[in-house]
Amino acid sequence: MDADVVVVGAGPAGLAVAACLKKRGVETIVLDRGQAAGQSWRTRYDRLHLHTPRAQSRMPDLPIPRRFGRWVSKDDMAQYIDLYARHHGIVPRFGTELRRLDRDGDRWVAMDGDTRWTARQVVIATGYSNSPARPLWPGEESFPGDIVHAADYTSPMPYAGRSVLVVGAGNTGAEIAADLTEHGARDVRLAVRTPPNVIPRQLGPVPTTVLAIGMEHAPPRLVDPVNRLLQRWALGDLTRFGMPAPEAGVVEQARRTKVTPTIDVGLVAALRRGDVTPVPALECFDAGEAVLADGSRFAPDAVIAATGYTTGLDPIMAHLGVLDPRGRPLATGPRALPQAPGLRFIGMSNPLKGQLFQIRLHATAIAKAVAAELRED
Ligand SMILES: Cc1cc2nc3c(=O)[nH]c(=O)nc-3n(C[C@H](O)[C@H](O)[C@H](O)COP(=O)(O)OP(=O)(O)OC[C@H]3O[C@@H](n4cnc5c(N)ncnc54)[C@H](O)[C@@H]3O)c2cc1C
Repeated sequence: MDADVVVVGAGPAGLAVAACLKKRGVETIVLDRGQAAGQSWRTRYDRLHLHTPRAQSRMPDLPIPRRFGRWVSKDDMAQYIDLYARHHGIVPRFGTELRRLDRDGDRWVAMDGDTRWTARQVVIATGYSNSPARPLWPGEESFPGDIVHAADYTSPMPYAGRSVLVVGAGNTGAEIAADLTEHGARDVRLAVRTPPNVIPRQLGPVPTTVLAIGMEHAPPRLVDPVNRLLQRWALGDLTRFGMPAPEAGVVEQARRTKVTPTIDVGLVAALRRGDVTPVPALECFDAGEAVLADGSRFAPDAVIAATGYTTGLDPIMAHLGVLDPRGRPLATGPRALPQAPGLRFIGMSNPLKGQLFQIRLHATAIAKAVAAELRED
């Protein structure tokens, strides 16, 4: 099958690009391995609401309905994504997985097994959080309890009355720890390797991710001292509850680690109640017990690994020379790399102002660049 533009992924990023291209009179073929638009949101954990406010999370040319509230729930987000596809008349080809991408002359060849699509332009929108990733801990076969990735965590109910070790104090780990304590887990410990910058979801009436828009390119030495004061004022000194202090300020840490701060949606209250205990990083298992970086050990009933995701792009396109050693694209947004003309990525970075906001900006810019190149051709 041949097309001018193939967009891979029918999440917010892929649909936004397809809609912006349609507005410019360019039809696309949108491929998605799932079965419905918004599926990635429908399957996320029950407690999840966006950390970015509704207005900052919308895709181009269709606001999120007001009735979904300021902090949109994950099911409403899934509904909005589905609505967005229908509103713009985009009908993705579901059940189609990009497994390999190659260059053939001046065209791209996208393959799912024996099925091939050729296109002049390809936009990859398969998600920054595409494939759950966790370390294989030495000795984990000796652990009699469950070890699950946070991607498979949907509800705290199966953990009521049980002791749980949550590994990772990023946004997902922090929220799951709070969720567990609010629903009867007996003893919740949070293993911290990189001490996070914890920030409130809003400062007074202003969402912190809105404030972050102005900080994205600011020098950390100017904004981080102010951030530190605001963190202390809003949340207090979390080291009193055993949470280690971050080594760098909000902006500097986000730039260095590419991990955004942990937005508080219940963790701080749980720390204050003494319901969540921060502990050092999980190193290994031994004789059925979890062994931590300080040598202490204990036997939780279950371990939830909130240890992040990879883009899953390596097996598809590592041979094209467009990925860094961690499998992330070397360029995202409207710019195509010289070694890969006509190939672009969207939704593959983790900015302080939120991925959805970045996706809105990039979708418009990518559509403009793609339409211009097609006209030149
Ligand atoms: C728990 C969680 C909470 C988040 N909260 C926020 C928030 O509050 N605010 C914010 O701005 N951002 C948030 N994000 C980040 C981001 O905005 C969302 O993940 C958003 O869904 C990203 O959109 P996307 O289209 O890039 O990726 P996805 O929504 O992941 O969509 C990717 C699509 O590509 C398809 N796909 C994947 N691989 C292939 C393949 N090989 N072939 C074909 N199809 C494929 C998938 O089926 C999926 O439909 C959150 C992320 C997570 C994980």
